[in-house]
Amino acid sequence: MGNVRVLQVLAVEDQHLLVYDNGEIIQVKNEISSQVTPGDFVEVEDHYTRDKAVGFAREDDPSGQQGIIEKKTDDLLLVRTETGKQVLPIPEEDVSPGDGVLLTDLGEFYTVFEEDIVDLDDDDGGSLRRGVNDMDPSDLEPENVPDKQYSDFGGMDEVVEEVEYKVQVPLKEPERFEDVGMDAPKGVLFYGPPGTGKTYLAKIVANQVEDASFYSIRGPELSAELVGRTERLLRGLFEKAQNNPPAIIFFDEIDSVAPRRDKTMDSGRRTVGQLLSLMDGIEDRGRVVVIGTTNLIEAIDPALRRPGRFGREIEFHRPSREGRREILDIHRPDVEFADTVSFDDLVEKTEGWTGAHIESLFEEIGEILLKEERDREGSPTIRRMDVERAYERVQAQINNKEAQRRREQEAEEGSG
Ligand code: ADP
Repeated sequence: MGNVRVLQVLAVEDQHLLVYDNGEIIQVKNEISSQVTPGDFVEVEDHYTRDKAVGFAREDDPSGQQGIIEKKTDDLLLVRTETGKQVLPIPEEDVSPGDGVLLTDLGEFYTVFEEDIVDLDDDDGGSLRRGVNDMDPSDLEPENVPDKQYSDFGGMDEVVEEVEYKVQVPLKEPERFEDVGMDAPKGVLFYGPPGTGKTYLAKIVANQVEDASFYSIRGPELSAELVGRTERLLRGLFEKAQNNPPAIIFFDEIDSVAPRRDKTMDSGRRTVGQLLSLMDGIEDRGRVVVIGTTNLIEAIDPALRRPGRFGREIEFHRPSREGRREILDIHRPDVEFADTVSFDDLVEKTEGWTGAHIESLFEEIGEILLKEERDREGSPTIRRMDVERAYERVQAQINNKEAQRRREQEAEEGSG
């Protein structure tokens, strides 16, 4: 789902790791293995409630900062990292331009983690490609979407209905728009808080339209690329989608590629301009729909929100009481719940939660059962206490995230 960053492990608890994140110690879920030890570097993925460690970056290495060798002279290396360029003495290890390297926390050379990750002869002079999120036009294969129906999406009937008319019909039967004298939408913005099902519903629509392909791209990944590469990637993506209709191009967190122009530097503007012209190039009945998502509709360049571009907007919101009841039913696993477990109670207690939070409640319950090995005695019954413990965990994670968000906001206001 989210951004991946490389962080160092400070301590290992049963199913969690304490990692060092930008001056803070945070707890993340350990989804790798029992072999993680303090000092290791792990890849941590953003998650709605608690971030998850999803892979080893490297065992026990002294830093997570990655860079790419841009130049090598007889005695010096020029290394580009996410934070800038650094000149380093030539290490003992055999290195060459284009290699991805890891630096120590003192900014010294540590090791090569991937040889030749970039071809420095390409036309933009090579770019910093992070090992975890490599993107290349040839990687832009359509994604598989889960076999889910609209009935698997709870509590937002009006949103589902809008999505049917603004996305499904343009993909499936664009001529219906012509019949009523309208242009079929090419771009639709899904906006609302994280975890309210924007990605999920986009995939459900793709699954409803026979043979639809789903191309997905994340704004922050795209904006981490160099300008020349960004343009090639975008062009490649639109070409692929247009050659493979019906197709959805799903732009997650589009605000990071297309922020308001008054706030953007030149490269951002170029990307927005290119995106607009690519969207203009989609034929009227091309059966390609671009979906952009954002948590903050106001942060988006107004030029993108005009008719013919992302002219349609659909708001996703936190579910109502009835919505939460439906989502609880949808995600509730097929195991026995003790009579003392009250779903009515849960409906009330989950006020303010998103669909993603509700889903993670059942993940936490599952984790409790596994940890206590209750699955080994035949099919387990979920007790009231299990639900309460899981509930407390998710609620604590929501509170932590909220506190973190507030701190970040304060820091931003302080610095701006
Ligand atoms: P967003 O894209 O808005 O950040 P996602 O689509 O990634 O949120 O939602 C994460 C998960 O939460 C989904 O995979 C789905 O399982 C669950 N979810 C969110 N909203 C709903 C909903 N209304 N009904 C059922 N499940 C939901």
